[in-house]
Amino acid sequence: MIKTRLLFEWSANVHLSHLPALFLLWCVSILGPACSATTENSTQSSFQQVDLLVTEGYFVTMDQEFTEYPDGFLAVRGGRIVALGPMTESSRYRGVKTIDADHGLVLPGLVNGHGHAAMTLMRGLGEDLELMGWLEKYVFPIESELLNDEYVYWGTLLAVLEMISSGTTTFTDMYYFEDEVAQATADAGMRGVLGQTIIGFPAPDHDSPAEALAFCEQYVSRWKNHPLVTPAIAPHSPYTCDEATLRASKAMADRLDVPLLIHLAETQNETKQSFEKTGKPPIPYLNSIGFLSNRVVAAHCVWADSLDIGLLKQSGVGVIHNPESNMKLASGVAPVSEMLESGVAVGLGTDGAASNNNLDLFQEMDTMAKLHKLNGGSATAFSAREALVAATLGSARALDLDRDIGSLEVGKKADLIVVRRNLPAAIPMYDPYSLVVYSLNGSSVDTVVVDGEVLMESRRFTKINVPEVYAQASRFIEEIRAVLGRREGSD
Ligand SMILES: [Zn+2]
Repeated sequence: MIKTRLLFEWSANVHLSHLPALFLLWCVSILGPACSATTENSTQSSFQQVDLLVTEGYFVTMDQEFTEYPDGFLAVRGGRIVALGPMTESSRYRGVKTIDADHGLVLPGLVNGHGHAAMTLMRGLGEDLELMGWLEKYVFPIESELLNDEYVYWGTLLAVLEMISSGTTTFTDMYYFEDEVAQATADAGMRGVLGQTIIGFPAPDHDSPAEALAFCEQYVSRWKNHPLVTPAIAPHSPYTCDEATLRASKAMADRLDVPLLIHLAETQNETKQSFEKTGKPPIPYLNSIGFLSNRVVAAHCVWADSLDIGLLKQSGVGVIHNPESNMKLASGVAPVSEMLESGVAVGLGTDGAASNNNLDLFQEMDTMAKLHKLNGGSATAFSAREALVAATLGSARALDLDRDIGSLEVGKKADLIVVRRNLPAAIPMYDPYSLVVYSLNGSSVDTVVVDGEVLMESRRFTKINVPEVYAQASRFIEEIRAVLGRREGSD
């Protein structure tokens, strides 16, 4: 305004012959601010505006070449990674939000390949029992009396809190009332592959496999194109579903183009029963009925010989290893090294909190590496890096999500975690894989991002109302205590 007024006063006294010069001055005067804005704009356009910038981190990308950026940055736009590299290249980007990783490790978010989230509410109940005794005395009575949509919603959110706080960004679920699991997952901003259970006896949510399958049709159509939720069909196991149910589940998964989740070859007893019932071990049996394919994600596969492993590889089945659950239930040791050598996609899972008893994949990686060293009879039989692969890209491959998650690469979804290094147990760091797998645990995770959204920052949850989750969980825990009290009274 001042410039314009000055120019006007001055121009009133100039001759017409001065008009070209006047015009030039007018340009400078009037357009001047615009010109300098353009300059600013062009300066700005040399920066790329992004939604989120993560700076000053030690990036362990888990890409094919195991690229690391000891002093690196990462830029996110529209939920995907748009740039990643050394800090020296970060000046080209400006973030709406910036997270200073403070030299902490930045890793792809961990991927929990198998679990039953709402079973957190039964954590630590009826410990150190044989599987059948535990199921009959505790799990089945509680599930039949108490399980409903609210129980599953709040139980899942408790699990999601625990998983986010220990660095998991994607989880897999097989349970009942799966619509509620999907809702809790979406509300929390977490990523999930969520399978509705089909089981050959009356379940808490459906009286028959046919009813459960009819529900799957609606469930899948509700969630099919959700950015965070991948709906799935989960026939419980070959020993709890008859052949017709297994075939119908497989046909529906093919038709709806969704994953097919199942427990497979978990115990020696399952193999024995399968022989008695079908004349074959579980894996060849499923192969003989045309069940196996690359949409199958099989939890456990503990009792798998080289022929079974060949079938898993040939049909493209993804396998999820759950070492702590297998150890706690004395199920056996899955032949993970042989599966990996054969080219089977092997991921890592925690199984439900009732048989583990936590959902911390850091502890699971530690156990995995040590178990397979011991089982292989050599300290070189399994490495920390292989365990971290299993918990990231391995699970992503097994779930057929590796195009989007499992490693930090440009074009992939921005699912990442920042792990603190300013901790006594993190000093010194000679090797990041060793530090993550053998020294740290889930409580070392500082910040968690899923789909470009910050879900936990400096260990504070940004999206979930934590006191409400605790309050709702206590309500159901009291109900569980009451059920147990009544049963003890009637014994
Ligand atoms: Zn399980």
